Amino acid sequence: MPAQIIDGKKISEDIISEIRAEVAALTGRPPCLAVVLVGNDPASAVYVGSKKKMCEKIGITSIERILPASASQDELFTVIKQLNNDDGVDGILIQSPLPKHINEQAVFNFVLPEKDVDGFSPTNAGLTALGESGGLVSCTPAGCVELLRRTDINMSGTNCVVIGRSNIVGRPVASLMLKESATVTICHSKTKNLAQYTRQADILIAAIGKKHFVTPDMVKDGVVIIDVGINRTPDSKKLHGDVDPACAEKASHITPVPGGVGPMTIAMLMSNCLKAYKRNHAK
Ligand code: NAD
Repeated sequence: MPAQIIDGKKISEDIISEIRAEVAALTGRPPCLAVVLVGNDPASAVYVGSKKKMCEKIGITSIERILPASASQDELFTVIKQLNNDDGVDGILIQSPLPKHINEQAVFNFVLPEKDVDGFSPTNAGLTALGESGGLVSCTPAGCVELLRRTDINMSGTNCVVIGRSNIVGRPVASLMLKESATVTICHSKTKNLAQYTRQADILIAAIGKKHFVTPDMVKDGVVIIDVGINRTPDSKKLHGDVDPACAEKASHITPVPGGVGPMTIAMLMSNCLKAYKRNHAK
């Protein structure tokens, strides 16, 4: 029987409705997200636009700080410092990728942890790695776990295999799954005989960045697949996941691409904004 599709679009819409209702009930000023964009990468401009639109839909104020591609790291730090010190700003998002002359992690390190809605600062990444719940969790990994939670998929005691060890997806999602009491294996580009691990997975999370990399022979019957990959082929504008859609014939549940993890990322960003606002107001 083909897999049940985990509808990330629908689940993210539910989350957005919940956040919107919470924002509508707030007294005082609405939450405020500052988005910082450096340069004129067209894809980044689209992402910033969709975040702005989502803020409007929810009732979150959004402000933009746009710097030219030639801006120095110090100029960017000056902008972030202003936002860090502005009590009217709850969340700060630095749109990635930054121009090559800027050290991205140094910039993420500069954002105040309590305003770091991307969860990329060492404090927030560290809290996630420690399994602590006090920080702001990186949006895509949080979205993966929320998809499983809202689909009523048991995570405790399962074998979870994560392919990918990046700081923005692989590592934090592995920490979150460990927190859910899964037995977690992290595989990466140097893993030997990858399929030997993936075939053991009850839950497989693919964050590789290679179109249809995971094939049906690499998974077992009944596996739950979370496909984080977003791959655009040069000849088409279509998006493809890291998992061959034919795996749906073996899986019990699978996320589609597009419409799976993607919409969850922005929903979790909005959730982090509200969380940051509430903490800011509780001070
Ligand atoms: P990355 O390039 O930083 O990391 C890729 C990881 O895959 C690395 O850790 C590498 O070790 C591993 N890998 C590469 N080749 C491999 C191989 N042959 N065998 C096993 N492992 C291999 O990428 P990332 O930023 O973690 O993103 C991964 C994918 O997720 C990309 O397609 C990206 O576009 C997508 N993504 C989606 C969202 C979303 O919102 N849905 C957010 C972030 C990233």
